[in-house]
Amino acid sequence: MRKKIIAGNWKMNKTVADAVELANNVKLELADCKEVDVVLCPPFTALKSVSDVVSETLINVGSQNMSSEEDGAYTGEISHGMLKELFVRYVILGHSERREYYKENDFWVNKKVIKALEKNLRPILCVGEKLEDRENGNTEKVVEVQVREGLKDVPASAYTELVIAYEPVWAIGTGKVATSAQAQEVHAFIRGIVKDMVGAEAADAVRIQYGGSMKAANAPELLSQPDIDGGLIGGAALDATSFAAIVKAA
Ligand code: 13P
Repeated sequence: MRKKIIAGNWKMNKTVADAVELANNVKLELADCKEVDVVLCPPFTALKSVSDVVSETLINVGSQNMSSEEDGAYTGEISHGMLKELFVRYVILGHSERREYYKENDFWVNKKVIKALEKNLRPILCVGEKLEDRENGNTEKVVEVQVREGLKDVPASAYTELVIAYEPVWAIGTGKVATSAQAQEVHAFIRGIVKDMVGAEAADAVRIQYGGSMKAANAPELLSQPDIDGGLIGGAALDATSFAAIVKAA
């Protein structure tokens, strides 16, 4: 039985003061939540403050990116060591916004996934097709390449640690949520690819989150699907009550 995981991706929102307020409000609702893994992913600048707020709780902290390198001359980058120092447990990697605006590709995303696992951080690998891919009937083709390339050389034993987030790009921030049937179909497809890559045990263990306009109202239906193991929440994670309602639906 896979434990559900709900993560809030705050994206480029929240000053430190705002982040502390939001984290405190989430803490009031979810500090002792055992049934679901709860993860807050604030911007880098608020990681320390959010970690401090949730330090005595079951709530985890994640970052929205991580360098594939150890340290050195990589202006603007943040290393695994810097994140672990701030008690970060999860790292979102390959989010579609990073792929689209910063030209991250599967090669670099894979390097980051490997580095994170090597350093005992849990990657949340994001995959998902654009609207034109879906309209052209290429959803499976696009998602398959992202999964195979992003998880290249990852051993079967790591699939209990890593998380895959299926985020159809056309559903992100648009209010256009995938239907539960559309999402379930792709989740089952992804699990099948993992089975083909590393075997049935890992495929059964890996958690696959849905992301894209997930809200308290549509969460119960999405989360009731057999292959949907949680959510990666954008907009609705910026409000503690909405976020907590999604966690409670899981
Ligand atoms: P929204 O929930 O705002 O659509 O964002 C989803 C997302 O991109 C999470 O990573």
